Amino acid sequence: MSYVAAEGRYGPMPYNRTGRSGLRLPAVSLGLWHNFGDDKPIETQRAILRRAFDRGVTHFDLANNYGPPYGSAEINFGHLYQQDFARYRDELVISTKAGYDMWPGPYGNWGSRKYLLASLDQSLKRMGLDYVDIFYSHRFDPETPLEETMGALAHAVRSGKALYAGISSYSPERTRQAAAILRDMGTPLLIHQPSYSMLNRWIENGLLDVLEEEGAGCIAFSPLAQGMLTDRYLDGVPEDSRAAQGKSLDPSLLSEESLRHVRRLNEIAGRRGQSLAQMALAWALRDRRVTSVLIGASSVEQLDDNLDAVGRLDFDQEELDAIDKDAVD
Ligand code: NDP
Repeated sequence: MSYVAAEGRYGPMPYNRTGRSGLRLPAVSLGLWHNFGDDKPIETQRAILRRAFDRGVTHFDLANNYGPPYGSAEINFGHLYQQDFARYRDELVISTKAGYDMWPGPYGNWGSRKYLLASLDQSLKRMGLDYVDIFYSHRFDPETPLEETMGALAHAVRSGKALYAGISSYSPERTRQAAAILRDMGTPLLIHQPSYSMLNRWIENGLLDVLEEEGAGCIAFSPLAQGMLTDRYLDGVPEDSRAAQGKSLDPSLLSEESLRHVRRLNEIAGRRGQSLAQMALAWALRDRRVTSVLIGASSVEQLDDNLDAVGRLDFDQEELDAIDKDAVD
């Protein structure tokens, strides 16, 4: 059945300005790191993407090596994009990245101009796109001059293959340097993509201040701590979960102590009339410098649960204190 996007797709979803740029992003964005490789049914992938767009999620985030295997998330997304979303291209913000291991040899990893620009061409081909909206340096490369890595991003923008430049997981100091270099090149830093959740608060120690000063936005990845900040693990480790499948969530993180912590958070969420996932997302969005939270979902049900977070984004001081009381760094 050919897809027609829901008429009411621009409803409750807030769209937040990315730093001091002209681009606004949905408060909740969808990432394709897991759940979009060749190990997952394409029809589930299609259903998640359609549902997301129908509910106002205009931003899909990818990277060259998302899968498994590497590249397959971009291929699968490209296939679904061509069938369902091509006519909505101008309503979508699609991002990709390069910086981690992608192909063998010295040119398929880290931050050289050689790697970044070749990888962007490959990503565009896999997705069948003329351009991405945001192209990221996926991580800082200590052995490549920052000028070279930022130069590759600025070139991608000048050549029209990307509209904006982003960086991911750079320290506050490197972020400041990257922003200055990009500014000199006439391509401002649009956005930083760091990890951030109630269980991982490193960006509060300097990075958010730098981003505010530089006028760049912040899109927080793994705001649900890969599922730990949901009800997924409250009664054991389900067989089909990320933790059980030997993926990126190390089951040893699910210790009795951290589960006790998660249960206490779950009780606070319950008192707010929210699921734990919804409270975790609202919490990550409580600082207006956080432009968007970048979630993953393995089903439409999870996605729906998460998108309902926008129904209650405010916190009172008592709730924040109760959450902080149990904070783990
Ligand atoms: P999350 O913290 O949102 O974790 C997503 C996982 O949590 C899902 O796959 C699912 O696990 C579980 N989950 C989600 N919603 C619910 C719910 N409502 N109830 C129960 N369980 C739920 O984010 P991710 O770690 O997936 O990362 C999100 C995106 O961030 C990535 O796709 C990618 O785009 C980006 N990212 C970027 C990185 C970078 O270096 N720049 C690194 C990591 C991520 P299950 O599969 O078990 O069902």
